[in-house]
Amino acid sequence: MQKWRIGDVTITKIVELESCGGAAWILPDAVPEACRDISWLKPDFMDEMGELKFSVHALVIETRNQLIVVDTCVGNEKERMPYKDWHHLQTTFLADFTAAGFDPAAVDCVLCTHLHVDHVGWNTMLVDGKWVPTFPNARYLIAKDEYDYFKRTDIAEFNQRVFNDSVAPIFDAGLMDLVETNHRVCDEVTLVPTVGHTPGHVSIQITSQSEQGLITGDFVHHPCQMARLDWGSTADLDADAADDTRRRVFADCAETPTLVIGTHFAGATAGHIVCDGDAYRLIPVKPEFA
Ligand SMILES: [Zn+2]
Repeated sequence: MQKWRIGDVTITKIVELESCGGAAWILPDAVPEACRDISWLKPDFMDEMGELKFSVHALVIETRNQLIVVDTCVGNEKERMPYKDWHHLQTTFLADFTAAGFDPAAVDCVLCTHLHVDHVGWNTMLVDGKWVPTFPNARYLIAKDEYDYFKRTDIAEFNQRVFNDSVAPIFDAGLMDLVETNHRVCDEVTLVPTVGHTPGHVSIQITSQSEQGLITGDFVHHPCQMARLDWGSTADLDADAADDTRRRVFADCAETPTLVIGTHFAGATAGHIVCDGDAYRLIPVKPEFA
């Protein structure tokens, strides 16, 4: 179990899925021939052949007073065709969450950086044929702009299906708070707007004892985008805004002690951004294992 500390705050990674290769559908420029030149991606973020590594994981934030889950992966038993790797999953995610020492009933707050399929899945679980909240005592915080976009009925049918089984039941249970994209969650945790990938996309800033961390969400999918600033994602809804956001946040974090924790970064998962010519690179930080 990988853990990081930011001042008094502890962050734990709970993995649902890991993969290597097949990045072209999400980052079409990131073909192995082009990635091989970015040698610092090895070994955490790329294999010897230039195939990129990805992870789907939740990050659990423990502050003095709050137990917070950031992004809830794909979830079990959900209808996710045509995405075969995510369809009718039967993973041990919830057992792993519990084995890490966390009680779903004790979670105070669930944050979704955005409402894509791999960030909302464990918001709900299937009980007696119904989708019920996995974290029954939590407030689920979602940016209002994000919710308003994904509740629309003129968006892709797939996104509507995800909304209906993983977001709407939370609203119906009265557990959802719609918030601004700069909402302060508690003393140590604040949302920061990083829009472009989706209309209300947020990253999560953690501050404690003058140390700082940033959980990315999907404004960046893979550290290769730090080396190649023009490599956008097919999933970016507004490509220009997504491009602006990546450049702005990388510049803000570069050469600072901010621990950048990637929502889809494999291996070390977290690191510090440093300048590298006209672009950036990520220096991995070794997590503690507990
Ligand atoms: Zn994602």
